[in-house]
Amino acid sequence: MIEDAAITSQILDDIAAEVRMCTLCPLAKARTKAVPGEGAAGARIMFIGEGPGEQEDRQGRPFVGPAGQFLEQLLRRVGLEREEVFITNIVKCRPPGNREPMPDEVAACKPYLDGQIAAIWPSVICLLGKPATMTVLGIGEPMGKIHGQIVERDGVKYVPLYHPAAALHQASLAPVLLADITRLKPLLTSQS
Ligand code: SF4
Repeated sequence: MIEDAAITSQILDDIAAEVRMCTLCPLAKARTKAVPGEGAAGARIMFIGEGPGEQEDRQGRPFVGPAGQFLEQLLRRVGLEREEVFITNIVKCRPPGNREPMPDEVAACKPYLDGQIAAIWPSVICLLGKPATMTVLGIGEPMGKIHGQIVERDGVKYVPLYHPAAALHQASLAPVLLADITRLKPLLTSQS
């Protein structure tokens, strides 16, 4: 088991090193730092967002701005610390002005995400927002329709959730996100 964790950790480090050098899409030009993702190599729960924001781009770490603080609050509500989960995005470099990533950018970056998922192979993957849900599951339904629903594929439970940034911008979404996370507590804590 320790050996497995060490191998996973090495794979994640290798992916992170590649991401930091990557120039496969136009997002490389404007980035300050690429943001590969971070968390426990043995995490049973993974959170996947849309892309780095301004503070993430500056620090090279995912979810460190206000949305990240909100995500940490949500995690604590179900008894989890961010160090226990793995957090990343569908694109690893900041789209200018925090726009949604373009399809070609998502496609160029996807092998890194696929590699992270394959290395960690978590039990639960929370997809934060529509772009993450579309990219990972190919489901383009409105978040209002699919948030909080569990989709099981190949033994992994995927859960589309509102993005914490959306909940910060639209106050009415915050209680919905909180309710979804709270309802998922048995699933999330049984995997940690
Ligand atoms: S977003 Fe992804 S594919 Fe594009 S430059 Fe960054 S790491 Fe490479």
